[in-house]
Amino acid sequence: MEDAEQYLFKIVIIGDSAVGKSNLLSRYACNEFNLHSKATIGVEFQTQSLEIDGKEVKAQIWDTAGQERFRAVTSAYYRGAVGALVVYDISRRTTFDSVPRWLQELNTHSDTAVAKMLVGNKCDLEDIRDISVDEGKRLAEAEGLFFIETSALDCTNVKKAFEIVIREIYNNIS
Ligand code: GDP
Ligand code: MG
Repeated sequence: MEDAEQYLFKIVIIGDSAVGKSNLLSRYACNEFNLHSKATIGVEFQTQSLEIDGKEVKAQIWDTAGQERFRAVTSAYYRGAVGALVVYDISRRTTFDSVPRWLQELNTHSDTAVAKMLVGNKCDLEDIRDISVDEGKRLAEAEGLFFIETSALDCTNVKKAFEIVIREIYNNIS
């Protein structure tokens, strides 16, 4: 179609080191999982297309590529983002405790409204769970975020997590 409308949304993934950010992205964009992924290896972003209301929507999803180990992600990373996945590891409480700090950093750097999803990743690790589903939900409610638990390992809810954010962004602008 000649004048089909197109949308391009920038989405960032943030959260402590090793919570599974890079694997969530590779699982969503390429259906790949890496058991021994290196923190520093990673592309800047991947683009995924989907159709909403007959319109092509492209999500440009950014990965920190390891910057978060230095506890600071550059402002360029956040610039223009309209969506964010804030990820913690359900088996490591320190990563959950960091969520408010990540939200604060996101707020400081974003000038527009950002659709935010709190993501409790590694829900396959039920045996060593440290954060209950309820606790995740309560934090999300308190901070006004969507909430979902995922597993990049066994694929649980990965597509859903990204698509809820993408649809929310679309709904906000259309
Ligand atoms: P990042 O530093 O946040 O980008 O985390 P990575 O994606 O590099 O993952 C860190 C480690 O956690 C790697 O060893 C992954 O294999 C592992 N990992 C990532 N997602 C999951 C998951 O859903 N379940 C389990 N069990 N391990 C995961
Ligand atoms: Mg990474």
